[in-house]
Amino acid sequence: MVTARLMWKAALIASLVVVGAVAALWIGVWRSSSTPSETLSGMTPMTAELSDVGKILWIGPHADDEVYVAGLLYYSHTRGWECVIAAYNASEARRDVNRRSAEFLGCRYVYASEYPGESPAEKIRSLLLAESPDVVVTFHPETGFRGNEAHKAVGRIVTELVEGRELDARLFYVLNRDPALEDLLGGADSASPTHYLNLELQASVDRSLFEVKLADICLYSELVPAAKAICKDVNGVATRMLGLEFYLKYGSNG
Ligand SMILES: [Zn+2]
Repeated sequence: MVTARLMWKAALIASLVVVGAVAALWIGVWRSSSTPSETLSGMTPMTAELSDVGKILWIGPHADDEVYVAGLLYYSHTRGWECVIAAYNASEARRDVNRRSAEFLGCRYVYASEYPGESPAEKIRSLLLAESPDVVVTFHPETGFRGNEAHKAVGRIVTELVEGRELDARLFYVLNRDPALEDLLGGADSASPTHYLNLELQASVDRSLFEVKLADICLYSELVPAAKAICKDVNGVATRMLGLEFYLKYGSNG
C-alpha cells in the first residue's frame, strides 16, 4: 500500500515535471518567434561595431529626418561622442523645433545651405569636409528609406565623397525595415541590413532608447503629420513599431 502510494506520488511529480518542461519549451518557442532574435541573426549590434567614435554625423535633406536615427544619436551622446545633425535648410519655425530636438538628443544642428558652394552637392561637401566626422550616417542612395528622391540624392552625394576618399569616415545607411513605418510612410528600403541597434536598451535611469526616440518624434507633432500619428499611436503605429533601428555598412555585402 505504502509502495503503491509512493509510486503514485512519484508518477504525479514526474508528470508535473513533464508538463512544466513542455510549458517552458512552448514559451521559449513562442518568445523566439515573437522577439527579433531570429531576424537579427547575421547582423552586428551597432553597440559592438562602434566603440571608438570621436564624432558621429547624421545627414538628411529634411530638418526632421534625424528622428529616423534618434536612437543611435542619443546612444552616441550617452557614450560621450560628439554628435552632429545636418539637414539642408529649414524655416524659422522648424529651426526652433530642431534646436529642441538637438538639445534633447545631445547633438548640434547644422544646415548645409549655410556652407560655401554653388550647388546643393557642393554645400553638402563643404559641410562634411568642415565637420570631418569619424562616422557618417545617411539615407540609402537607391531606396531613400521610403523612396524619397531628396533622401536618395543626399545618400548619393555622401556616398560619392566616401567612395572618392574625399571624406575619410565610416559610412552607414539607415534602412527602413519596419512594417509599421512602411505602412505609415508608404515605402521602405529593400537592402538587407548588416547592423541593428536594440532600442530596448536603457538610455538613462528612467527610459529606454525607444522612449527617447518616441519623445523626439513627438517634438515634431505640430509640424509633421506622420510624427503626430506616431506620437498619438494612431492605428497602433507606435505600438507596432519594432524596437530596432537597422543600418547597412557601406562596403559590406548587403
Ligand atoms: Zn525626409
